[in-house]
Amino acid sequence: MVRKHVTIGVDLGGTKLLAGIVDCEGHLSSLQRWPARVRDYDQSLTAIADLVTQLRREIEQRGDTVVAVGVAIAAFLTADRERVRDATNLVGWRDRPFRAELAARVGLPVVIENDGDAAVWGEYTHGAARGERCVAMATVGTGIGGGVVIDGNLISGGSGLAGEIGHLQVVPSGRTCGCGARGCLEAYASGTALAQAARAAAAADPVGARQLLDRAGGDPERIDGPAVTALALEGDPLSRRVVAELGEWLGSGLAQVAAVLDPSVIVLGGGLVDAAGELIVEPARIAYTSALSIRAVRQVAPLRRAELGNAAGLVGAGARAAAAVAGLPTASAVD
Ligand SMILES: [Zn+2]
Repeated sequence: MVRKHVTIGVDLGGTKLLAGIVDCEGHLSSLQRWPARVRDYDQSLTAIADLVTQLRREIEQRGDTVVAVGVAIAAFLTADRERVRDATNLVGWRDRPFRAELAARVGLPVVIENDGDAAVWGEYTHGAARGERCVAMATVGTGIGGGVVIDGNLISGGSGLAGEIGHLQVVPSGRTCGCGARGCLEAYASGTALAQAARAAAAADPVGARQLLDRAGGDPERIDGPAVTALALEGDPLSRRVVAELGEWLGSGLAQVAAVLDPSVIVLGGGLVDAAGELIVEPARIAYTSALSIRAVRQVAPLRRAELGNAAGLVGAGARAAAAVAGLPTASAVD
């Protein structure tokens, strides 16, 4: 029997830690979720190493071989993908040599990638953007991540921050963003922004927000993003409006991405797009199309939903790790 070479993909976000087995066709199996929220650096290393040990055992029982580990992380990384510069939703991660430390723990080659970059790589290699020449992706969840692949290269930028679509300025002097700037897309079109917009709408119109308020036990401050999305899917008019407005912000931001990159396709992913689907994508598409510049000659890049759904980052990280051990160029070195 031929031993299949597989990788372990890991997705460490602000609220969850997931890991699974990724094969060379991008198929994900044995998805595991760490039972607690992990934020601290040392805790995260231990938890990831534990998940890798479990999955490695399973891979060996199947008669396959694990060749590397790829980690998608919601953090700003150095351009060489060796160190975490900062991670706003994680604790104690500033300037840590995460790749080398994890590689030493697990005894396997490790590749680390920003989560938005891992997601676009997943969609480029195994999803909605296969074979595309110029791909931009936005991942909409608690925040907004993004990534860019041009001519088969994942673009990391001069200091590792390329493709941070969430930090495009959409409103001059607008809302304060977690990054320190003002008016960033993330402050208008993320899951966090969705909850804030719904709370404001409920305070302004308690009658129209009756269903939302019921769901939050009558307290507008307890309205959260998943409740708004769920009610929008059930047809609640106020929730639908708030979700559609988020889609419009997203679409106008993506038109700016198109002005810079002229992508052949734009992929939309992340937990919120996964959950709300066309309720976000359709208004985004309309706002995007109407805001595009140079319309006379532009070939309008389609907006597509991520085929890998919310697993794009995990699968992309695994695919990145596989490419690295195969000797294909990635920004990450391996041991
Ligand atoms: Zn920002």
